[in-house]
Amino acid sequence: MKNQDIKSGLFGSVGENMAAFELSKRNWYVYRPYFDNKIDFIAQKFVCKRCFYDWESKHIICCSNKNCPNQNKELNKNNYIKTRKCLSCGFIFDKYTEHINCPECNAEMTVKKDKRSGQKNYSYTCSGCDKKFTSQTRGCVKCESNKSIEFPVCEKCNSAIIPKNNKCNNPECKSEEYALIIRTIQVKSSHEEDRGTIGFNFKMQDLIDDPRHFLVVYSRTFEDFKEKHNFWVMSVEEFKKEYVSNNASTIIYQNARLHPPKDKAYFFNEVSYNKKMARIKEAKKKNDITLLKTLEKKIKQIDIFGKLNQKIKGDF
Ligand SMILES: [Zn+2]
Ligand SMILES: [Zn+2]
Ligand SMILES: [Zn+2]
Ligand SMILES: [Zn+2]
Repeated sequence: MKNQDIKSGLFGSVGENMAAFELSKRNWYVYRPYFDNKIDFIAQKFVCKRCFYDWESKHIICCSNKNCPNQNKELNKNNYIKTRKCLSCGFIFDKYTEHINCPECNAEMTVKKDKRSGQKNYSYTCSGCDKKFTSQTRGCVKCESNKSIEFPVCEKCNSAIIPKNNKCNNPECKSEEYALIIRTIQVKSSHEEDRGTIGFNFKMQDLIDDPRHFLVVYSRTFEDFKEKHNFWVMSVEEFKKEYVSNNASTIIYQNARLHPPKDKAYFFNEVSYNKKMARIKEAKKKNDITLLKTLEKKIKQIDIFGKLNQKIKGDF
């Protein structure tokens, strides 16, 4: 089955959008130039200056203790304890603590635990003097002051939880420095030809000459009626090596029809990439750094868009 169901003019923009989408899945911000200047779109990304991993430019909350494993980690409500800090004496206490005796007469307190729609509310009554308070009205357990504020602390080390506005995605990197890198992209879309080959028209002079520029050949093919998206990503150097050295038509003719070499597998293997990405997600969830590193190495070998993510002359 051939795929001539989209008009060729429209098909060009399908290829651009598909390639842009692949990059956005890999944390690139993509933009279209206002005017047609050979570049189809521009991709930008924040990366760590030290290890070149993706840099997350958003606010996260994490532990303030530099020696704690929770220091550079995005925490959720299971990773911190909701405590209060006394504004009079500075003591940090858990308003749900059950093992402290009555502040008036030092007799034992009985606790009634109530939990409504996820909100815990404990009622305390003294067995000696009948003093009463709840977890909401409870004063400082040390000095009894009623002036206290919410003060979440880390469940691992009891240090304060603080907002942090960015972090390196490499769990082992503590770098504080990042950079914005840029790539420019040209996309050529190709229908599968009648004889089952893929071809695209391209003239060398139309290629932007910069090491940060990439040419993406997109094609949509069918295998047993199953639609498949194919991407072939080339740096300017790779293009020159593949096409210019032994094919003068790339220089002379606007409509030189170019075909990927048959002997090599160039196109991106989507299935194997998606499988590895699913495993990476799992490893991240489990915080399995060893597995994460192995998988990331493998992804680098199979992801055709990975070459945009290498440090290139002109980056920083
Ligand atoms: Zn880093
Ligand atoms: Zn009492
Ligand atoms: Zn106090
Ligand atoms: Zn901590």
